[in-house]
Amino acid sequence: MLRRTLLPLAAVLLALWLWLGATPSDGPVVRTALVMGTLVEIKAYGADPNRLDTAITEAFAEMARLEQLFSAHLEQSEIRQLSAARGVRTVSSEVAELLILGQMVARRSQGAFDMGLGRLVALWDLQSESPKVPSGEQIGAALRGTGPESLTINGQQVKKTDPALQLDLGGIAKGYAVDRAVAVLRQAGVKSAAVNAGGDIRLLGDRLGEDWRIGIQHPRKAGEVMATIALRDRSVVTSGDYERFFEQDGRRYHHLLDPRTGYPARGCQSVTVIAGDAALADALATAAFVLGPRAGLALLERMTDVEGFVITDDGQRLVTTGLDGQLQWF
Ligand code: ADP
Ligand code: MG
Repeated sequence: MLRRTLLPLAAVLLALWLWLGATPSDGPVVRTALVMGTLVEIKAYGADPNRLDTAITEAFAEMARLEQLFSAHLEQSEIRQLSAARGVRTVSSEVAELLILGQMVARRSQGAFDMGLGRLVALWDLQSESPKVPSGEQIGAALRGTGPESLTINGQQVKKTDPALQLDLGGIAKGYAVDRAVAVLRQAGVKSAAVNAGGDIRLLGDRLGEDWRIGIQHPRKAGEVMATIALRDRSVVTSGDYERFFEQDGRRYHHLLDPRTGYPARGCQSVTVIAGDAALADALATAAFVLGPRAGLALLERMTDVEGFVITDDGQRLVTTGLDGQLQWF
């Protein structure tokens, strides 16, 4: 008799315990915020939604703090102050770290990646209501003083060779902020999360014991996934000519500028890079795009622990050898 009543009771208690314990950990906590002009999504899994929520708040706060350092638009940002400076200037360790990484990518890409294109980016002004193609003269003037040797970095001491050089970290800062957001989540005890800043993605751990399945945006079909890839603990960053562009006389002018010509780079529709750090992947995606399909893919092949693929202007797919067969195409 006693057994008969206790057993169902035990079953009910077990079910209740499973429901209370397991259900909250099944669904992720997902939040979005506007940072660095981009809608950023953070998704985190774990047993305690309140802790996840607090960790996500801290991660967004960290990204907002970094925007204050790296922005080319905010008057008081360190990057704006460095752009305005003459002579040697001491920067924060974070700005120095990012500049050193960017300069490494600048060298490895023979200058295709260039953090000194601030005047050129401002000239094209792709953010404006009605952007138009600048004159060759204006472009020539905006390119003066740029190039891989335009910055000398010695620890936290930075010197611009040409005082008029204006910095723009748009090709790398978002990735760095994603890295820092993941570091904050990890420090807060989060084991499983994905941070996505408009196509700059970093994964922390796995997703419920499985790989995360990441969809890559189709460069010509808005809102459609072109390919998926299964990953954990990696970063996936895509640069494309579809993100910010205008058309004039039947030509597409976009935001990835070739420092050799001063015009938007030709040859690619998009480049996707997979690496450990999102900052590195971000800079390499921009660099490979600017180099063009063949040289861009060769750059990705040369880098250790880096994979990726290029979609050419005629829709061909070029994939690094280490990634071959790991993509699912649609
Ligand atoms: P997003 O993910 O915001 O589209 P990308 O990583 O694709 O950014 O880089 C594009 C941005 O990088 C541009 O908006 C500009 O600020 C900057 N940029 C443009 N051309 C270059 C270049 N050749 N080297 C470095 N940065 C560049
Ligand atoms: Mg980039």
